[in-house]
Amino acid sequence: MTVPPEPEGHDSRHCGARKRQGEGTCTRPAGWGTDHAGHGHCKLHGGSTTDQGKAARAAKAEAQARTALATLDVQPVDNPLVALRLLAGQAVAWQEALAACVNRLGDRFRYEGLAGGEQLRSEIALYERAMDRCGQILGLIAKLNIDERLAAISEQQADVVIAAIDAALAHAGINGPAAAEAKRVAAHRLRSV
Ligand SMILES: [Zn+2]
Repeated sequence: MTVPPEPEGHDSRHCGARKRQGEGTCTRPAGWGTDHAGHGHCKLHGGSTTDQGKAARAAKAEAQARTALATLDVQPVDNPLVALRLLAGQAVAWQEALAACVNRLGDRFRYEGLAGGEQLRSEIALYERAMDRCGQILGLIAKLNIDERLAAISEQQADVVIAAIDAALAHAGINGPAAAEAKRVAAHRLRSV
């Protein structure tokens, strides 16, 4: 069973369930009397049932994540290869954080009782999803040959700079061993960056 769709024009700050008696919808605060205040139906309209609670908690977590995302300073992606490598680093770090979480299984207290069992299952599910995601990203990187392509890009950029130095030297009338030495130094510096 899923939470019924909200009626047209429904204000998400309210429960919004159709009233059993009389006209209209419930105007109690969303999630009133439940553990997901601010989301879903109120306690009197099934908000505390397992299915509704699950859906409302998921909606709440998603809304919180969206709020957090809105405060991030999001930069445009100039180089998708670099961004993908960064993403892989973050995915691996997230997976490791979850692994550490799951590894504390010895901590009996955290997993005692029904709620503890649910927490354990959700942590393991997150961990497994993180592993899948890491696998996908790393597989994509392997397929794209990302390191070689990034190296090729910096080689190309170095070649452009060296060509510019070459032109500048020629323009200044510098040639022979002095020009060759200047280019050698420039190439060395560029490749060590
Ligand atoms: Zn209600």
